Amino acid sequence: MRHSDRRDAIFAELKNSCAHPSAEMIFSAIKPNFADLSLGTVYRNLTLFKECGDIVSVGVVDGKERFDADTSPHNHFICRNCGAVIDIPDKFRIGVEDIEADGVQIESVDIVFHGLCKSCADAEHN
Ligand SMILES: [Zn+2]
Ligand SMILES: [Zn+2]
Repeated sequence: MRHSDRRDAIFAELKNSCAHPSAEMIFSAIKPNFADLSLGTVYRNLTLFKECGDIVSVGVVDGKERFDADTSPHNHFICRNCGAVIDIPDKFRIGVEDIEADGVQIESVDIVFHGLCKSCADAEHN
């Protein structure tokens, strides 16, 4: 397999970003360094990383899937106005025991909060 430099660049861009970028955002950021890079290549590599468990999908915001290289348990807040995805500490696990009391086994928890981020809320109030 060649082109591991591109794969590394895609992963590094995701790892170094706190924006939970989409494939398109990663593509725009590293395209200047890889003239022949295609959006399809970025998609394919993200799918591969996801299958390997190296990254997680945060969900779809405005029709674009967003990704996170931080696979430790935490939750997300998504701004309905600007699409910002913000990390929320994982302290909302209350009730897991109650749910498992019904016989299901919980393997992961994804809680997404929706609303306005600080700058959008500030803008709305001014
Ligand atoms: Zn916002
Ligand atoms: Zn995150």
